Amino acid sequence: VSWWGGVQMGPPDPILGVSEAFKKDSNPKKMNLGVGAYRDDQGKPFVLSCVRKAEALISAKQMDKEYLGITGLADFNKSCAKLALGADSEVLKSGRNITVQTISGTGSLRIGANFLSRFHGGPRDVYLPKPSWGNHTPIFKDAGMTLKAYRYYDPATCGFDHSGALEDISKIPEQSVIMLHACAHNPTGVDPRPEQWKEISDLVKKRNLLVFFDMAYQGFASGDIDKDAWAVRYFIEQGHNIVLSQSFAKNMGLYGERVGGFTVVCNDAEEAKRVESQLKILIRPIYSNPPMNGARIASTILNTPELYSVWLGEVHGMANRIIKMREQLEAGLKKEGSTRDWQHVIDQIGMFCFTGLKPEQVERLTKEFSVYMTKDGRISMAGVTSGNVGYLAAGIHAVTK
Ligand code: PMP
Repeated sequence: VSWWGGVQMGPPDPILGVSEAFKKDSNPKKMNLGVGAYRDDQGKPFVLSCVRKAEALISAKQMDKEYLGITGLADFNKSCAKLALGADSEVLKSGRNITVQTISGTGSLRIGANFLSRFHGGPRDVYLPKPSWGNHTPIFKDAGMTLKAYRYYDPATCGFDHSGALEDISKIPEQSVIMLHACAHNPTGVDPRPEQWKEISDLVKKRNLLVFFDMAYQGFASGDIDKDAWAVRYFIEQGHNIVLSQSFAKNMGLYGERVGGFTVVCNDAEEAKRVESQLKILIRPIYSNPPMNGARIASTILNTPELYSVWLGEVHGMANRIIKMREQLEAGLKKEGSTRDWQHVIDQIGMFCFTGLKPEQVERLTKEFSVYMTKDGRISMAGVTSGNVGYLAAGIHAVTK
């Protein structure tokens, strides 16, 4: 008999499964708006020139390939924390953070989830925005945490449900964990405004909740890395000792290099040392130590002034191209004669647009127009180009009129 006779066929991943279906389609006009990966205006994967330059610098140095330490490349960790918290952050000055290199954002979330599961003294409940990135649920579940939710997205306005969120957060049991997307919320593209963040911060403090910030899109929302880190920095200023996940997949285009960071903001430097020791004990039996190549690239960009300014320009360029595509999609829908209000296409922020399409409409768009997207109606704006935005508008209009 087989060892694995009892293993049942599992369902395909809801996002990566879309790409598999896309590959099989022979329609030359097909569009893959499922996965969140940036494309240039020709629809091609984009490697940032600051990355190419950093690679050349690294290659010229002929460095060795010895193991990194358990927590990764020290220069990377330092500059990763500085990017999120800001150069003049009080936390950095007093050394009360611990930042470790992780296997991109997913690895960071998982190390964070494992750390909470082992050490968090409060309830093992993590409150996610409704909806949240699909992978949040299994990441925390597999780490032994329980998933709960708070209202976030209002389908009636295709915008942020501020009063619903506040009402739900006010009922979260004290010391629970709340997940906040730092900017460019995935999948909705809907972020709280600064005044709304302030109210959330006050309430979260009143409820004494542990804040887990997921920042996978710093720079991608507004094009400005400081503006996009505003909520994270504000919460810290307000006295929240947050935990933070960072990814360099999107903002440096380092998807497959798997570069990220996990930060715990502590009460003081001594506490940070103790937390660091436990993160090491947690990481060592999982993957021993992280890969070095991507961290070297990111660290070189962050620590070489010329490359850093090239990078800032390129982040800005990517964000702007997406913003332009939003405007053209909205204009295209109007031009097709759609009488619906598509303002949310413009107002939503970051890589994704939560179109409001119903599952049947999504299905028709895929079947009749070969436009691939997740069933929830989310499209990756990063896959829209000047060349195909008109086709997309025509397709969306056809299935929504
Ligand atoms: N969090 C959110 C909200 C995301 O959208 C993503 C990427 N889709 C991630 C984390 C992590 O991605 P990665 O592991 O590629 O850095």
